[in-house]
Amino acid sequence: MTTGNVGTRVMERESGKQSPVKQVAAIRTGIASMHAQHLKGSRLNPLMWVFFGRKWITDRPISVFVIEHEKGMVLFDAGMTTRTKTDPNYWPDKITRMINNKVFRFEIGPEDTLTRQLELAGYAAGDVSKAVMSHLHFDHVGCIAEIPQAELLVNTEAWEHMITPNSVRKAVLRRDIEIPDAKWTQFEFEATENEAVAPFTEAYDLMGDGSVMLIPTPGHMPGSTSMLVQGDPPILFVGDLCYSLEGLMTDRFPGIGEKDELAESYAKVRALRERLPGMLVVPAHDPEGVEALKAHPLYSAKVAQ
Ligand SMILES: [Zn+2]
Repeated sequence: MTTGNVGTRVMERESGKQSPVKQVAAIRTGIASMHAQHLKGSRLNPLMWVFFGRKWITDRPISVFVIEHEKGMVLFDAGMTTRTKTDPNYWPDKITRMINNKVFRFEIGPEDTLTRQLELAGYAAGDVSKAVMSHLHFDHVGCIAEIPQAELLVNTEAWEHMITPNSVRKAVLRRDIEIPDAKWTQFEFEATENEAVAPFTEAYDLMGDGSVMLIPTPGHMPGSTSMLVQGDPPILFVGDLCYSLEGLMTDRFPGIGEKDELAESYAKVRALRERLPGMLVVPAHDPEGVEALKAHPLYSAKVAQ
């Protein structure tokens, strides 16, 4: 896919044409508690706080974001499956189970499926045309079986990381990603001179009209992707790049990820935000980011949560 002429299209819309993005919404497939060190960083070896940390931060949503585009309904991430609670064999091996049970505490009920949460928000899972994964951690990709008709998009680097032998220890459950019905498409970021995403020099134009741009924000995981949605103000969904806007603005890095890469991505997102004043930054597990999104003019009035 090319990104040529995107700048022209952006200018056309700025001159009064209607945006192809009709609505955005946030739903969640459960709630997590996470260690303070996970969200706010720590000088300790992660294994120390994973096993001995006592300070938990509660009420972190496991978010899925809905973008209603005139060409179809798009999701950013696909949530966590209720099988994390109900299936004793959800984790593929004992060590992965033990570690993840120490990293997270989940509140996830029978209604916390993607299908039901979309329904409560006035949408239908069968209407999802594309779902973009910020990365392949289990809590972002867990409900793909509920949207077999959707094209599932993931950056090639994230996919290549998944097929490495130890990815399961990093909470990437290949067994639940490479399922028979899933329609996966790997995409690569392409060089662009599109001013709308500067200082990023690579992007992927999801809908072909510049309204939903995927941009590379590595650091949390290889191939980590953010989604810039055109709006007034624009909205940047960042997955797990950061856990709060404050963390992003002050270079307070989480306890997980590659700090050098995170620092570079944080600086670029801040520079993007300077170019797009008021741009919302919406992390996947940040209740304040979700609240800010709910005040956006594009936010769906149908959502009851
Ligand atoms: Zn993650």
